[in-house]
Amino acid sequence: MNIIEIIEKKKNKKTLSKKEICYFVNGYVSGEIKDYQASSLLMAICINGMNEKETFALCDAMINSGEKLDLSFIKGIKVDKHSSGGVSDTTSISLIPILSCAGLICAKMSGNGLGFTGGTIDKLESFSGINLERNEQEVKDIINKCGCLIIKQSKELVPADKKLYALRDISGTIDSIPLIATSIMSKKIASGNDIIFLDVKVDDGAFMKNLKDAKKLANLMVKIGTHYKKKVAVVISQMAEPLGNGIGCYYEILDSVDILKGTYDKNGMLYKLIKFMATNIMKLSGKYNEKDAENKFNEVIESGMAYNKFTEMIQLLGGNINDISKMNDCLSHPSQIFTAQNKCYIKDIKCRKLGYLVNEMGGGRNTIEDTVCHSVGIKLHKHIGDKVDVGETIAEIFNTNKKLSDDEIYARLKDCIVLTDKPTEKTKLIKYFTTN
Ligand code: URA
Repeated sequence: MNIIEIIEKKKNKKTLSKKEICYFVNGYVSGEIKDYQASSLLMAICINGMNEKETFALCDAMINSGEKLDLSFIKGIKVDKHSSGGVSDTTSISLIPILSCAGLICAKMSGNGLGFTGGTIDKLESFSGINLERNEQEVKDIINKCGCLIIKQSKELVPADKKLYALRDISGTIDSIPLIATSIMSKKIASGNDIIFLDVKVDDGAFMKNLKDAKKLANLMVKIGTHYKKKVAVVISQMAEPLGNGIGCYYEILDSVDILKGTYDKNGMLYKLIKFMATNIMKLSGKYNEKDAENKFNEVIESGMAYNKFTEMIQLLGGNINDISKMNDCLSHPSQIFTAQNKCYIKDIKCRKLGYLVNEMGGGRNTIEDTVCHSVGIKLHKHIGDKVDVGETIAEIFNTNKKLSDDEIYARLKDCIVLTDKPTEKTKLIKYFTTN
């Protein structure tokens, strides 16, 4: 078989066989197929697509490129959750302890942030001492003790995605429905969980820019899950504006702490999405009906159980939970405050631009080698559709490392938040929900 023939076949809109797809995946992982050849094929796939048979073959080859996690040692229903990537999205960090308190097992593998999106691993690394690279025995020990954990994806699991994702990121080939679906689903299937709950983000701050494409992606991932006999649910949720209030590691951890302590605004989109996910996952497990799921959600938060589970998980992972007071200290010392000069309404918050701003302040990385500054960030006090009175705070800036000047950050933040004197509509949070 020859990679050039395979590239030309896809360039000419022909269908690739299972054998050709396996040859490409295995050859790329082994290094026999070069980056420039792989990126050529990825671009041809981006432009000409893949049919369902090709997509399933690609997913299969990716799953088989490495080891699979065997979670059969854990008794009980194992659940996993994954988001397609967004800004101010800390759902996993709160959701996992909540689900654990509801009697479900959650061993979640997460990634670092890239580009304008934040990563769960970077956020958790705000805790000094935390070690998120764990071997199988350590995973077993932590799960047996507290029923949940979040760790870095192991190098052995789906190495094909590790290589392909990194290449797609720098070759303009991220936003392809079959490539995103296989990237996400190969990792989820190889992780060995029973229930897979996916959150596909749509709009300015997401890879999917419109609902039609997001639905195609959602439905394709459900079909892949059905093929592997997994229970899969997909929600499509807004990423027209940041989901929570904090953007940047410390401020997103503090959002999670507020959610878990029950002190976050119950009308806030972050709270509503976590509640939607948690209650639906509980229902999918077959252990709860609608009413019981809602009652359980409220109970684990109001009783303090969910927050205690979170602190237990952080400590078992080696993190210093007292660092929360250090984060709160940063929160009470903003470098600048953006306030309203006139009575107004929030018309738009440019999500992607804001994500890039925090990234350039040092809150994210552009290459794998970059180190993340956990204390830089922005806190939004208002969201789209909110009314703002004269002198009220719209957002705070935490420029702790001065990588960019205060003046530049302030000007760019103002540019991201569009104000109007006319009342505006709030963003619709949940756009679609499907399951198999
Ligand atoms: N998240 C993934 O894991 N893969 C993609 O391709 C996009 C988002």
